[in-house]
Amino acid sequence: MLLSIKEMEVRKVRFDETFQPGEIDFSGAGVRQSGPIHVDGEAELLANTDGEVRIKGHLGGKMESECDRCLAIATFPLDCGFDLFYRPSESLSVEEEVAIDEGEAEMGFYAGAGIELEEILREQVMLLLPMQRVCTSDCKGICPVCGRNRNESSCDCRVAAADDRWSALRKISQG
Ligand SMILES: [Zn+2]
Ligand SMILES: [Zn+2]
Repeated sequence: MLLSIKEMEVRKVRFDETFQPGEIDFSGAGVRQSGPIHVDGEAELLANTDGEVRIKGHLGGKMESECDRCLAIATFPLDCGFDLFYRPSESLSVEEEVAIDEGEAEMGFYAGAGIELEEILREQVMLLLPMQRVCTSDCKGICPVCGRNRNESSCDCRVAAADDRWSALRKISQG
């Protein structure tokens, strides 16, 4: 769905859409949709700006990937509000582009007739996913020695050094 700038010039554009798995391109991201993603909200052209657009709303759904530790399926429920600002990319001068690289990361850009809702969703979903994608926070992972999934059965392999590092990491991530 294109959030049209022309339409925003007349009124706020409201959206209320559901995307089935496959409708948004998550290829190459290592994740997939495990159910519909629902998004609703509104897009508004801000008065007295150089074509700045504010898009706010809420998204909900469910993603899944392989667990980083044990390769089983890890699921990630999404339920989050967003409030985003976009500027037309042609309004940028070279100096501004440099400044934005350094500090204004929250500002997005659009070119042409508007902003694709699918693009926004893809970006927001990727931001919401945790860096460490694990099936459960205490996933024991796969034994590096015998290859057994240690959530299912334990083994007697000695991997003391690695274990210490993992438990330290775990403490940080639970922090
Ligand atoms: Zn796991
Ligand atoms: Zn083992």
